[in-house]
Amino acid sequence: MSIALSIIYLVATITFIFGLKLLGHPETAKRGNQIAATGMGLAIVGTIFLHDLEVPGFIYGLIGGAIFIGLIIGWLIAIKVEMTKMPELVSLFNGFGGASAALIGLVEFGNDMSNSSQVIVMSAIIIGSITFSGSMIAWAKLNGMMWKDIRLPKYNLINNIFFIGLLAFSAFIILNDGNSDLLIYLLLLAALIYGILFVIPIGGADMPVVISLLNSLTGIAAAITGVFYMNMVMLVGGILVGSAGLILTFAMCVAMNRSLANVIFGAFGGASVAEGDTQVTGSIRKTSASDTAVMMNYANKVIIVPGYGLAVAQAQHAIHELEQLLEKKDVEVKYAIHPVAGRMPGHMNVLLAETNVEYEKLVEMDDINPEFQNTDVVFVVGANDVVNPAAHNNPASPIYGMPILDVENAKQIIVNKRSMNPGYAGIENELFFNQKTSMLFGDAKATIQSLIAELKGM
Ligand code: NDP
Repeated sequence: MSIALSIIYLVATITFIFGLKLLGHPETAKRGNQIAATGMGLAIVGTIFLHDLEVPGFIYGLIGGAIFIGLIIGWLIAIKVEMTKMPELVSLFNGFGGASAALIGLVEFGNDMSNSSQVIVMSAIIIGSITFSGSMIAWAKLNGMMWKDIRLPKYNLINNIFFIGLLAFSAFIILNDGNSDLLIYLLLLAALIYGILFVIPIGGADMPVVISLLNSLTGIAAAITGVFYMNMVMLVGGILVGSAGLILTFAMCVAMNRSLANVIFGAFGGASVAEGDTQVTGSIRKTSASDTAVMMNYANKVIIVPGYGLAVAQAQHAIHELEQLLEKKDVEVKYAIHPVAGRMPGHMNVLLAETNVEYEKLVEMDDINPEFQNTDVVFVVGANDVVNPAAHNNPASPIYGMPILDVENAKQIIVNKRSMNPGYAGIENELFFNQKTSMLFGDAKATIQSLIAELKGM
């Protein structure tokens, strides 16, 4: 490898590490992404032009064409995708990463390799294929193409036996010197089937955790191919993705008060909950924008709880305007951010950062929970599961044990949503029947705009 290419790889590696560091804060995240992407671009261009590829000229044309087509498709998808569809996109990208690792493994595998190289390449095939098919199932589940969680009887046992069989089959191929293409293709097929079996029983509510886990597997697959090619950029990039994905996976499990094993083997969120176990009875109280505006106008402290509905309604600018208006009226305003509010990790931070809400106003769940008891009005906008007290009170509820925002402790609670329909977990919310709660029905953006108009008139 030329010195110039080594330097490029070193620079690219530094940009990955630096970019990842900047991704840790909403203010710097965009720059972090751009820096890491530039590093990746450099590494790709450097590899094409400075590596001794020893290939006929037309191959360069093919590579260039593929990169160009990929760039256009990726760019179009990324600018068009709605924020609420981001987990699906991540899932697709994960799947393609896994497929690349599997394809590299397939092309490189041969019986002229040492056993250790065969193990490395085979791991890339297995992990890459599992990631690919698993991500495709996760994508289909998230966009509603697979509305049922299919579970074979004793699916955990079947899956585990299948996985052990997969490992045994790989060992068999290596012990037989790996000289059969047919066996390698069979291994690929088996790994693809395992990816499907692995994700299919996992409930829809756990898909974000699964996607994060698959994301980390993509990183591991890339790192493995990096070991094979002795390529520092692939290795470091893969390790960063693998470890960041694992940290995020565990952070999400903690946010839901679940173990990773429970997510994978527990079939949460898809199991049918007996009617009645989560049903809530009682009456609700409706309120109007003008009554809510009066309540907020005379409050000392208002906490806004944004959720998925705020993102769907694209009401982030309106809520920021409401917050500024209230502050002008000497009302203290904060946002309570639940780690899994919305449809992707950090969804609310990203959404509100877009409107330049001051970051210190975005308060994480553990820090804001003690503050609710001193709060006059909590304004829940398009959030549902993340404020459902069933997580504390009802052991039969699928979200039992998940930490929630303790909005019940506030003096008054206003909930804005369009109907009594449930949220993502598909269960009723006893908060709506609480005596302190008033329901302000309507689309979040239109409702907040009428609140602003009322407040301006006071
Ligand atoms: P929920 O999905 O629980 O509830 C959202 C609520 O918003 C709905 O009840 C809906 O009620 C309301 N809504 C929808 N559109 C509008 C609108 N235009 N205006 C006003 N309200 C609207 O959201 P939460 O944020 O509370 O909870 C997130 C859930 O998603 C959790 O269960 C979490 O586990 C899951 N999840 C989280 C991911 C993440 O990484 N953050 C990823 C995937 C899932 P109505 O229809 O009556 O208006």
